[in-house]
Amino acid sequence: MRRRIAVVGSGPAGLTFARVLHRHDHPVTVFERDPSRDARPAGGTLDLHEGLGQRALEKAGLLAGFRALSRPEGQAMRILDVDGTVLRDWRPRPGDRANPEIDRGRLRDLLLGPLDVRWGRAVTEVVPDTPDGALVRFADGREETFDLVIGADGAWSRVRPALSPVTPRYTGVTLVETSLDDIDTRHPDLARLVGDGSVAVYGANRALVAQRNSGGHVKVYAQFRSPLDHSANLDPADAEAVRSRLLALFEGWTDPVLDFLRRGAAFVHRPLHVLPVSHTWAHVPGVTLLGDAAHLMPPLGVGANLAMLEGAELAESIAAPGDPDDAVRAFEERMWARAGRFARITAAGLERLVNPDPAEALALFDEVQQ
Ligand SMILES: Cc1cc2nc3c(=O)[nH]c(=O)nc-3n(C[C@H](O)[C@H](O)[C@H](O)COP(=O)(O)OP(=O)(O)OC[C@H]3O[C@@H](n4cnc5c(N)ncnc54)[C@H](O)[C@@H]3O)c2cc1C
Repeated sequence: MRRRIAVVGSGPAGLTFARVLHRHDHPVTVFERDPSRDARPAGGTLDLHEGLGQRALEKAGLLAGFRALSRPEGQAMRILDVDGTVLRDWRPRPGDRANPEIDRGRLRDLLLGPLDVRWGRAVTEVVPDTPDGALVRFADGREETFDLVIGADGAWSRVRPALSPVTPRYTGVTLVETSLDDIDTRHPDLARLVGDGSVAVYGANRALVAQRNSGGHVKVYAQFRSPLDHSANLDPADAEAVRSRLLALFEGWTDPVLDFLRRGAAFVHRPLHVLPVSHTWAHVPGVTLLGDAAHLMPPLGVGANLAMLEGAELAESIAAPGDPDDAVRAFEERMWARAGRFARITAAGLERLVNPDPAEALALFDEVQQ
């Protein structure tokens, strides 16, 4: 008999899991809180690594589709100091496909394909081990039971409490995001600075990164150390108030860099939270976690990659002959070991990128390029 499998969350983890299971002709139900696929902006761009996110797409049969949509030239990276001096200007070699960039919206649409997502179905709680399986409760009052529930519902997972009491903690670093459209025609000076990929500027305890997405769209991330309540008396919807606060924080930086903040549209606050580097739990039959729900870490280019590879690997294990609960148990052990390694690396990386000594960020870049 086919097992009843539910996925909570249609991010990179949930969709990759569902797509690989679908490829193995196994039915799966995806529940997503958002009311529709385009209910909110899909977000910025992701670099998918050859051994991680790209391996997951291969397992889903989507590598060729990814190659058609991704931007290998987006791997380019320029680093400036706060006076505007170019310290590094790295470009990928022709044919370099190690970490191409893809817009999140394009990746989501690629993964969605034939999947039938139940939109507008926010989960409030999962109760494992009822007589009919794991019980899923929804915000609309409905309840359904499944043989296996996969919590792929991100940082503030509502599935996680069924397995672990742990909640994310603030890292001490806040990221404020803004964006510019039609950069090539409206802001050619900034377009030259960003180039095909990203420009990053590191100062004492703060950094600014501008990253090209497709269609002339650029996302800008201002990062700085601050208390969690940095924006407590600031209305995030008041773009001019947020802009003034940021310009004061980055005062003294070269004008072209500050122009990213002067010309950016709306601002979004993202205080960076993490789960403990070695987050594990006692195995509970019928429920598990993937991606950020299991191992939220600083955004240093691996979270979505791990989420996707985990989704693909778990789906393959479940589709293979054998006891599905043994498959989940073995998968969890593998996921914890690998995610723990990356959690340690990214935690140390965040400390070096937003550091009193900006030379630390440059040294980290050089180490990664070797
Ligand atoms: C600024 C920034 C840049 C980043 N850049 C990169 C990068 O270049 N490369 C990389 O690998 N990673 C990157 N990351 C990290 C990456 O975004 C995450 O690790 C990744 O999105 C995790 O995927 P996920 O599927 O586990 O969770 P999510 O992407 O958070 O998806 C969770 C889904 O679950 C849904 N959901 C939440 N709660 C419920 C509920 N109660 N009921 C139903 N549905 C629910 C959400 O709406 C969402 O669709 C970046 C992160 C940030 C913040």
